[in-house]
Amino acid sequence: MLMIINEEKIFDILKDAKYISEVKIDKILEKAKLGKGLSLEETAILLNVEDEKNISKIFNIAKSVKEDIYGKRIVLFAPLYLTNKCINNCLYCGFRMDNRKLPRKTLEIDEIIEEAKALEKSGQKRLLLVAGEDNVSAPLDYIIESIKSIYENSDMRRLNINSAPMDKEDFIKLKKSEIGTYQCFQETYHKETYKKMHPTGPKSDYDYRLTVMDRAMEAGIDDLGMGVLYGLYDYKFDTIALLMHAEYLEKKYNCGPHTISVPRLRPAPGAKMEKIEYPITDNEFKKLVAIIRLAVPYTGIILSTRESVKLRDELLDLGVSQLSANSSTSPGGYKEKKKHNSDQFYTNDERSLDQVVKSISDTGYIPSFCTACYRVGRTGEEFMKLVKAGKMKSICRSNALLTLKEHILDYASIETTKSAENIIDNLSKSIENQNIQDELDDRLKRMENGERDLY
Ligand code: SAM
Ligand code: SF4
Repeated sequence: MLMIINEEKIFDILKDAKYISEVKIDKILEKAKLGKGLSLEETAILLNVEDEKNISKIFNIAKSVKEDIYGKRIVLFAPLYLTNKCINNCLYCGFRMDNRKLPRKTLEIDEIIEEAKALEKSGQKRLLLVAGEDNVSAPLDYIIESIKSIYENSDMRRLNINSAPMDKEDFIKLKKSEIGTYQCFQETYHKETYKKMHPTGPKSDYDYRLTVMDRAMEAGIDDLGMGVLYGLYDYKFDTIALLMHAEYLEKKYNCGPHTISVPRLRPAPGAKMEKIEYPITDNEFKKLVAIIRLAVPYTGIILSTRESVKLRDELLDLGVSQLSANSSTSPGGYKEKKKHNSDQFYTNDERSLDQVVKSISDTGYIPSFCTACYRVGRTGEEFMKLVKAGKMKSICRSNALLTLKEHILDYASIETTKSAENIIDNLSKSIENQNIQDELDDRLKRMENGERDLY
């Protein structure tokens, strides 16, 4: 039977990765350039690289690998918090059950629709629904009803979910509600630390959480999002463990994770952690994101508003492919539009979606609201095959430009429109295949004439 995580092996890999010759590092970097991924041993060696010269090589390769595979598109989304009620006690989280000061709230279905509409007004097309774990006020049927109501009552085109792990039977029900990606972060793969951080509640069961991706896969949900919460334990250990988990999924199901998120611990009102035991500097964080890109080049990397504007801008060049924008981490936060004390944690980038779209366009990337893959059934193994064959880049470019055009026609400010028009002009003209270029031009014109949702 395949083993998901082997702690001893991870420690051995990290130990063996020390004191490596320059020649060996060069060899690994040459391999990384091919965009076919790295072994755990090679990844561990890169994680130990400290000198500026090699770090800047890692950064350059990560940028070019990301662009070879996905092109210049950066997918945008926002989280929508359904409930902050929770029966767990994760020490780092403001939603933990024993935080008596947190005003608790589970949104009613009409409030959820209002949140979705508030986000729609800013131009969002894809959401990540987030929920604390509470089977009484937010059971699976409530989550499913929320999904159905948002699809029926707003222009949201893809709903991803970040919720507590569930059984296979529940995943089968969830799949029927046409979710995009199912996300669940292991937080830390280090069992002892995991136990300390999750003292009570169902989440204290490390193995049940570790096997969540298997149950989702077996239920037919094949776009899966993984992650660790950086800051809980040694980042090198957790990165190798995360990649070991990804390798396991790839071996067993022919399909690795669709996305990897890189949340970093933030201060949270009412959390019970005195200090961050394993703080990660911005430079270490940049390095680990770039290395994840090299290790699993086909996987989307998601960066949230936990990070600062400056760092988010820098990380665009290091392999990140999806960004959340203008996020609230409180149920009802979008309609209320004010800071309150029911946040899960404090965010770090408070820009509006319009500002984020402008800033991405200004740097030459394409802000994308594309939801095409999931809507035409390009998920799981099918999606991975196309990515690995290098075919997604051109599909993504056209669709990203179309959704950007739609966005500026319907939502953007004058300054953002100017910047985005530049990108659309430049990149639509740089398409080598004449047929694809003609088709894109035709669709861009149809958009100007009032048609929408073309892909
Ligand atoms: N309750 C579910 C769970 O824990 O899996 C899903 C939603 S939880 C609100 C989403 C994620 O938020 C968690 O997996 C955790 O990684 C992250 N998180 C919690 N507290 C955080 C903090 N203080 N800073 C940054 N991220 C945090
Ligand atoms: Fe609950 Fe999730 Fe927060 Fe833990 S991280 S307390 S499970 S909402």
